Amino acid sequence: MIAEIIAAGSEMLTPFRQDTNSLYLTARLNELGVQVAFKTIVGDNLEHLTGAAKIAIARADVVVFSGGLGPTEDDLTREAVGDALGLKLRRDVEILTLMYKRFASRRMTMPQNNAKQADVLEGAEVLANANGSAPGQYIDTVVGRHRKIVILLPGPPGELKAMYEAECRPRLAATLPERHMAKRLLRMALIPESQVDERTAPIYKQYTDVETTILAGSGEIQLHFVCAKPSASDAQARVDELAGKIEAEMGEAIFSSHGESLEEVVLLMLGLRHMTLAAAESCTGGLLAQRLTAVPGSSRYFLGGAVVYADRLKTTFADVPEEMVRTEGPVSEAVARAMAEGIRRKTRADVGVGITGIAGPGPGTGPDEGKPIGLVYVAVSFAGEGKAKVVELNLTGDRERIRLWASQHALEQLRRSLLERT
Ligand code: ATP
Ligand code: MG
Repeated sequence: MIAEIIAAGSEMLTPFRQDTNSLYLTARLNELGVQVAFKTIVGDNLEHLTGAAKIAIARADVVVFSGGLGPTEDDLTREAVGDALGLKLRRDVEILTLMYKRFASRRMTMPQNNAKQADVLEGAEVLANANGSAPGQYIDTVVGRHRKIVILLPGPPGELKAMYEAECRPRLAATLPERHMAKRLLRMALIPESQVDERTAPIYKQYTDVETTILAGSGEIQLHFVCAKPSASDAQARVDELAGKIEAEMGEAIFSSHGESLEEVVLLMLGLRHMTLAAAESCTGGLLAQRLTAVPGSSRYFLGGAVVYADRLKTTFADVPEEMVRTEGPVSEAVARAMAEGIRRKTRADVGVGITGIAGPGPGTGPDEGKPIGLVYVAVSFAGEGKAKVVELNLTGDRERIRLWASQHALEQLRRSLLERT
């Protein structure tokens, strides 16, 4: 069972507006076990829209239109679907009356062009619009011996979602064979997508009934598994089995086996070990603290820290010896280590993190002369242990990317070092 979504509206063919309705609709259709095989965006042009409708009806079992149900000249979805299916439009008296009443209740006269919103395709069921004036339409028909479900929904997202929930989901669920979706999400940090795919493809390719998607971005790889089956427990068993095999292959590289974020995992691990954390951040300017404090309940394990951007503040707030900053340069292994140890001592935390680096756009100056953009040091210090461990990074990209990746490395380094301390 495959679907096509057609988003009608010229504004989505400009750089200024995106079709987001299809994302919502895809998620809902997937829940019913319907795969979205095609998405089309068409401008407000009758010929183009009719052409797209014909193609969609020929190649998909379910076709969902979004938009173009309004009262204006460029709202053409009804006409286009009528042309494509060879169905006539009739003006529905009930809808028309309702529209007149709506306007009357606001002491307004209804503009004549509004009447076309009452045009219903032959054989279509009218879908009530709880949040607007344009009703939707639901057509369950047969084209050349194939059953086709064609749905017309209004463009405004609030109207479309409410109408889908109230009117379409129950109809589709009653029509389609019973399907239950199971999902799993595995997440990994700072590992190349090609490596993940090379190691996991031989496993997930054996599970042809599970759809596997690899998403990469922001220093993280996500593996999404989705399976639809008549029985919910069968679907869950399949995704769990596949996830288990992938976990066995990737081992500790996987930070999350049920979708938790890296910062959530780090906080959870601190909690299990009854440890508190503090951070001294230079080039990330508090980004690490921001990410950690975004997690509800983080205050129990993340104490806080300091943004020590200026050299002087590294000394004042993180106890870095003035002399060290001068001789080694603020972006150095020694200073990162001193920051991690200093902030830990000053805040009496169990774990301290220090991040210092060159985020660009210019390279290092003064004592950091000659050091390249993207050079970052991340240090993690544990109370009662020896010297803090420091990792040197050579990150690429612009300022924003370097700062984000530096915070990602700090979290991953924390996670890995906590793993070693059970
Ligand atoms: P209306 O009665 O408001 O004219 P309509 O069904 O004709 O309803 P459109 O005119 O196509 O809908 O769109 C109305 C609003 O909904 C616009 O603000 C538009 O940007 C937004 N919209 C339309 N289609 C989409 C879409 N696919 N994704 C997100 N927003 C959309
Ligand atoms: Mg419109």
